[in-house]
Amino acid sequence: MIARLLAVAGCALVLVPGDPYVPPPPSVLPPLRHVTLPSDVFQYPLSSWQPHCLGFGSQWRYCNGVALRSCATGVWLHTGVDIRATAGEPVMAAADGVIIGYLIDPQFRGGVLIRHRTSFGIVITQYWHVWLRSGFTIGSPVKRGQVFANIASMGSRTHFHFAVFRGGFDSHTWNGALPPAACAGYPSFPYKFVDPNAFLAAHVPAPPLPRGVRVLV
Ligand SMILES: [Zn+2]
Repeated sequence: MIARLLAVAGCALVLVPGDPYVPPPPSVLPPLRHVTLPSDVFQYPLSSWQPHCLGFGSQWRYCNGVALRSCATGVWLHTGVDIRATAGEPVMAAADGVIIGYLIDPQFRGGVLIRHRTSFGIVITQYWHVWLRSGFTIGSPVKRGQVFANIASMGSRTHFHFAVFRGGFDSHTWNGALPPAACAGYPSFPYKFVDPNAFLAAHVPAPPLPRGVRVLV
């Protein structure tokens, strides 16, 4: 799986030396009142949502400040948010969708992609440092709030990484929780990732619906 992952990353990434970091444009997603499909409604994947050390767009470092990978050509930026979690904690689907990807990395554990067909286009949510539960595999449909995975143990570095990708799958979609295998990749900010906290704030009903509640539209 590593070879495949690295192959995917290797062919996906474009080196742009000295390319300055340009913040992504603000979300243009419609407000929640424009919900027209059940899959337009999202929820937080964990029962609590407390930030860990890395936020969206920050430099890719361990909590103690050590860079996961230092490259002379630039700094990789974090494409998701890191959230406090405990090993074994259940992970829920952020919205109705289909599991479209699962990769396992010995160091960073499992990564899952779920595709959501919303009225504002395809959204892919990304869950890293988890183990897929038995009974779930690529192609499995999931409902919002359904527990499909558990937080994996990474010892003192145990946490949850969550990212939101706008559009259908492409090679950038796997970027996020894993540092590049070599200093030959896109050092700036991969396009199509949006701030997961801003996205959830825009698409989670207020107050949040209890887990399992269906939205009739
Ligand atoms: Zn992360």
